[in-house]
This record gives sequence, structure tokens and C-alpha cells, in this order.
Amino acid sequence: MLLSIITTHRPATELGFLLHKNPARAQCLEVAAGTAYVCYPEADETRCTASLILDVDPIALVRGSKRLTSDGEGFGLGQYVNDRPYASSSLLAVAMRRVFSTAMTGRCKERPELAAASIPLQISVPAVRCRGGADLVPRFFEPLGWVVEAVTSPLDPNIPEWGTSPYVDVRLTGSQRLADALHHLYVLLPVLDDAKHYWVSSDEVDKLVRAGSGWLESHPEKGLIARRYLAHRHPLTRDALARLAEIDDTEPEDIDNAVPLAELADRPQPLAVQRRGAVLAALRSAGARTVADLGCGEGTLVAELLADRSVERIVAVDVSCRALEIAGRRLRLERMSERQRSRLEIVQGALTYRDDRLKGLDAAVLMEVIEHVDPPRLAALAHTVFGQAAPSTVVVTTPNVEHNARFADLAAGQFRHRDHRFEWTRAQFRRWATGTAHRYRYVVRFVPIGTDDPEVGAPTQMAVFTKEAA
Ligand code: SAH
Repeated sequence: MLLSIITTHRPATELGFLLHKNPARAQCLEVAAGTAYVCYPEADETRCTASLILDVDPIALVRGSKRLTSDGEGFGLGQYVNDRPYASSSLLAVAMRRVFSTAMTGRCKERPELAAASIPLQISVPAVRCRGGADLVPRFFEPLGWVVEAVTSPLDPNIPEWGTSPYVDVRLTGSQRLADALHHLYVLLPVLDDAKHYWVSSDEVDKLVRAGSGWLESHPEKGLIARRYLAHRHPLTRDALARLAEIDDTEPEDIDNAVPLAELADRPQPLAVQRRGAVLAALRSAGARTVADLGCGEGTLVAELLADRSVERIVAVDVSCRALEIAGRRLRLERMSERQRSRLEIVQGALTYRDDRLKGLDAAVLMEVIEHVDPPRLAALAHTVFGQAAPSTVVVTTPNVEHNARFADLAAGQFRHRDHRFEWTRAQFRRWATGTAHRYRYVVRFVPIGTDDPEVGAPTQMAVFTKEAA
């Protein structure tokens, strides 16, 4: 199995920093399925290619696993004679994870800006086993911004009537962050293969949510991807879709589609829906007519604010252009009536800097935003919101980390989202909120959102700040 990553970013040899693998030195690592080699067939200023070669040990595979063949055959010749050592599948994904683990975190001490930037990339993987036809390759990769070439080989070039093989040579070209590109492959290679080589447990939900963070939530094929990734185990798929929806507020219909109707009746509403309800209730009881949604993300709260006739003006702010673009599409800006459009301003900006456009509003919302801000920058954010914009009401929600113990698929100590810089206990949130209220002359009250567990509290915590009379 061979994975090649080519860049023409200049100087191209910086790919070595991003992958944490020195271009001058070939490396060899033992992985579960055999031996992985990383080397650079070419590395100069203008073009650099890194190759991961996975040499699978078929005997070790038979010893190490109960379910080896793509048709699930447990014993017999199929155990020894199958495509697993040759076809690119979940074995390659697992090796990638091991060999490029640091690169996949997106961190790079030597070149932090480059790790955060989109660079020109070309990725090729020959002989990808693709159940369901080569068409799936563009269906999965094109929505992520890749230009896709997927070439199917004949089963036997000498006997054309046998038709095509299930193996596809995949080449992806695009401008992407390297860590994102690796995550796309890590998730989608096993999804194309649709035959995981190991038992799929609830840990996989967590892996999928983490590896898919930032792109899978809004992927048009996320249902199919989750189903295949989780080996068609329905309860896991449902958990994964619900978690993805919670992270990026996919519309609830998308989750409901994945749930058998019989189960719907006694299911509580998704947390994201409950959270928006609680925020809107706080704004209503404060009588807010002009509202800023700070860190609005993809605009789900904005949509509900627009639907509320008592809200006259909405300022939606986010630092991420991509999030704002998706928000624009989701809100169908181009089809919005002029009257409706005149109620909404969309502003790209960082909340850690003064912004006079936020002044003079009744209320501001920070829904699931503070935990995305580096702790040393939180004071700057508080100063912008409470000190300079200074609306009469500020509503802040954030995860309650104590409740993480109730998420079966979240390992101890793990956060709910890859981009969270921290998650606070109830006491930590109270300390921050009361300190901030005191400094900027607000009074604050706290409201749990979601099931309020007697031991660990509710999954989301909300603080509602009201400005003291001058
Ligand atoms: N409020 C939305 C999105 C939450 S995700 C919701 O609940 O659905 C957090 C959002 O905060 C992201 O869209 C991110 O781009 C934005 N964000 C993080 N740091 C920010 C900053 N310093 N300034 C502005 N937006 C920020």
C-alpha cells in the first residue's frame, strides 16, 4: 500500500516540518499490520513528495484478527488469500494515524503558520478498495474541495468481458491544510472500503467525531459516511450524528432522519435545540430587540432570531470566513426579502479586539464560544463584550466538563470538540462569570441546560448577565 503526498508550496521541503518527518532520512516504524516506511522520493524547493509505504504481514493479520476478509469470512482459505495486504483500506488509515499522529493534530512548532494555512497538495493512493463503485470517490471528496480523479482498473486486462475490478486509483488535487487532508483520508479510506478490519466499538464514535471535526458536520454524505465508518452499527451511527449535530448544530431533521420513528417519541430534544431555546428564552425575558450573536458559527441561532418578530436588528459576528459563508448559504441570504435582510448585519471579526460595530445593542450572546478562545485571550474578549460593547444583557453558554463522564463514548479527560481550548466545571465557570460581572458591573444568574444530573450537573451551563443601573 502506498500513499503519496505531494506539495508545490515553496519551499516545498517544508512538508518535512508539517509531517514531522525529515526528508533526508527514510524512516521505518512497526505498526499493528506490519511495517510502515516513510521516505521522500523527491524533495527540492519547488516540489516535494512524501510517501508512506505499508508492508502488510499477512500472517500477522491472520493471527491478530478475527475478521479479516472483506466478506467477513472467519476461517478457511479466505483468511490467507484476500486483498487485505494489497488494497488500500482501513489498514492504511490506521498506519497513517500512527505515523503522522503529530501532523494530524495540526500543530507544528517550527512552522505554525504553515500548518494553519492551505497549501497546494496532490495526494495519490493506488488500489483503493471501493465498495459501491468509483462514483463514491467524488461524492465523498468533492464537497471537501478536492478535484478528484478516480480510475478503475479492469479485473483482468486480458479478459475485458470480466468488467472492472473494485479497485480504484485515487488522485486528489486541492489547496488544503495538511492536517485536514490527512483527516479526510483517515476517515474516508475505510468508508470507501466499507469493511473494517477490526471490531467497531463505541470508541469509534469518538474517533469519528474528532477526525471529522470541522468538515464532516456539514458534509452532504455525512449519514452514509458515519454508517459505513461505524460498520453499519445503528446505535453508534445515531450517537455519532447526534454528537456531530451538537457540535455544529446540524438541523435537527438531519439527526431525526437517522433515528427509527419508534424511538422518536420518548427521545429528548437534541441538546443544541434545547440550548437555542434557553438562549432565546433569556433574550425574550430581557426584552431584547437588538441582539449580537457573537461567534455565530453557521448561523442556526441567527435563523431563529430572524424568525422572532420582536427582534428588530441582529448583528452576527464570527472570526471564521468559512463559518460565515456557510451561514450565508444556510440563511439563503440571496433569496431573503429586503425587509428581512435589513434586520441582519454579518460581520467578520475577532472578539478579542475592540469593535465599535457592537456598541449600542440590547443584548449579546456568546453561545459555545468562550471555550474556543485561548485562556490568556479571554480577558480581552470579556473587555470587548462587557467593557466596550456593554449591552444590557449578555448570555454565555459553555460545556460543563463534569457532565462529560455521562458521555459513554468520551474517554476520561477528553474534550467534546477538537478545537476546545478548555472545558470548565460548574465552579470554574461561576468563578469566571462572577469575577467578570463584578469587574464590569453586571449581575449574573446561572441556568442549567439539558438534563440536570444530580451528581455532575447539566451538559451545558448558561450565565445570564444583566447590567447594573448606572
Ligand atoms: N455560536 C455558534 C457556534 C459555536 S462554535 C453555535 O453555538 O452554534 C464557536 C464559534 O466561535 C466558531 O464559529 C468560531 O469561529 C468562533 N470564534 C472562536 N473564537 C472567536 C473569536 N476570537 N472571535 C470571533 N469568533 C470566534
